[in-house]
Amino acid sequence: MRAHTWNTLGKVTVMTGEHVDAVAEAYALIEAAQGELDPDQVDAVATRIGRPEWWDVQVLLHFARSLADREAGRDDSGHVRAMLDVAAVLDDPALLALALAASAARKVESPRPLELGESAASPLVRAAVLLDDESSPVVHRAAALIEVACVAHALGLWELALEHYDRTRKALDADDGCWRSTTDRQRTVLAVNRIELLLDWAAAEAMIGDWPAAAERAAAAIPGSREVVGPDWPPTWVRQYEGHLHLLAALAGSSSGSSSGSSSGGADVAPPILALGAAIRAARVPETERAAALARGLADGFGHTVPLHVWLLAMQIAGRRRGGEAAARLADELVVLRWNDRLVRMTTVRDAIAVERRRREHEQLQREILTDHLTGLANRRGYHAYLTAVQSTAGPGDYAAMMIDVDKFKQVNDQFGHDVGDRVLARIAEILSASVRPADLAARLGGDEFVVILAEVQPGVSQDRAQAILDAVGRYPWDQVAAGLRVSISVGLHHGCREELPTLLGDADRHLYQAKSEGRSRVATG
Ligand code: GH3
Ligand code: MG
Repeated sequence: MRAHTWNTLGKVTVMTGEHVDAVAEAYALIEAAQGELDPDQVDAVATRIGRPEWWDVQVLLHFARSLADREAGRDDSGHVRAMLDVAAVLDDPALLALALAASAARKVESPRPLELGESAASPLVRAAVLLDDESSPVVHRAAALIEVACVAHALGLWELALEHYDRTRKALDADDGCWRSTTDRQRTVLAVNRIELLLDWAAAEAMIGDWPAAAERAAAAIPGSREVVGPDWPPTWVRQYEGHLHLLAALAGSSSGSSSGSSSGGADVAPPILALGAAIRAARVPETERAAALARGLADGFGHTVPLHVWLLAMQIAGRRRGGEAAARLADELVVLRWNDRLVRMTTVRDAIAVERRRREHEQLQREILTDHLTGLANRRGYHAYLTAVQSTAGPGDYAAMMIDVDKFKQVNDQFGHDVGDRVLARIAEILSASVRPADLAARLGGDEFVVILAEVQPGVSQDRAQAILDAVGRYPWDQVAAGLRVSISVGLHHGCREELPTLLGDADRHLYQAKSEGRSRVATG
């Protein structure tokens, strides 16, 4: 069975081959959910793929289900929320970014809101900043980057969209080959989306009358773009892509075929696109009347096959006929206002990203200060921060402190080496993490010394939980860390009320001493 490892936030995550395959299947389902399969079929496949313990796969399956619902015109908000909920407790920044971008996409696509609500920009900003963290597997990063770019495109934040397509390409280029079929498809989506973005953008520049900028953008988009079309591309994608390239060539003022070094130029392009290409070329010259005549009646023939601003450009060109100067002037003024508004929004979002980036850096710094690097648990400072936080909350409640020390740990280091010693500490930390609830605390105070604080706990229960931790350490397959390795711990346990919290640890330490002197590998309590 294949197994793969990722280093997420300092923790090494190991995935079994089955899990890796489930991720690939989930991505295939996400694609199939956007047209090929109906919601019930998606549900059936998702039920087969998913396992409760694969939380990352759960996020992707909720995404697939939401896309299928949306495609079928059903309410998908439950799945988008579930996606966010699951992603929020996962340690994968890219999957959280994907969930946030999906929720932003939903806001963009929902019918025109009549009241102010949370904008799509706010989850988008969070997602963009989360993606600064490059620790996630490449498929998740690429999926999230593409989703962020799509939302940014829809919001008219084209600079941001392009930046995220460039980040996607960089992420895919650093691919380790583990999910080849998924990343190959992501490369295709990237190529298609990027060309669509540049065409939309160049058409908008043409609309404000900046033909040189439009030509430059279009000309820069074309080289190498036809070469990426592969035999695995669905025919509808190829046709649409060819159409986009044809219009880019028209905006660039180059001939469709020769500009890309291919002789196929225009062969596959639909007649309305060919006509619009001719209209754009005439408008550039400008041969306004001829362009208007060519574009007239075209706008209705595109369906969803051209980006928004290409459709608007077709109408603008068609509207420039003799006698219609006043209407054309009004339309031109509106176009410029809209463009300026776009630039203001772009600046606002950039500022918001900078603020969010600083906030997150501060948060991470704060977390690092309170975290032990070897184990990921709270350190001594984190322990004191916890005590302060608990004591500042009102209300009664019993607490228990466990002081935990590894038995004969010096011997482990001496016999097996310091690296094995480090891994022992990390495994014990994992056992402790798995043994505490959100209101509790597990911390490494230093060396081989750990502390666990149990919140709101009855004396009998804390005794059981201490014993369970001791047993879990004893049962752990230490042979997998190093052949012949055996590890045990001693635990000092002390119970008290909230006011006694600052002294609980000292008492627990006394009991630990007792556990050590009575022969180790036991729980001692007072
Ligand atoms: P006892 O059962 O009495 O606790 O015996 P012990 O050998 O575990 O004694 P003690 O707890 O005093 O020893 C702790 C040892 O932990 C001493 C030090 O070499 C080792 N140590 C401290 N920090 C680290 C660390 O970060 N990594 C590793 N591998 N060893 C550490
Ligand atoms: Mg020790």
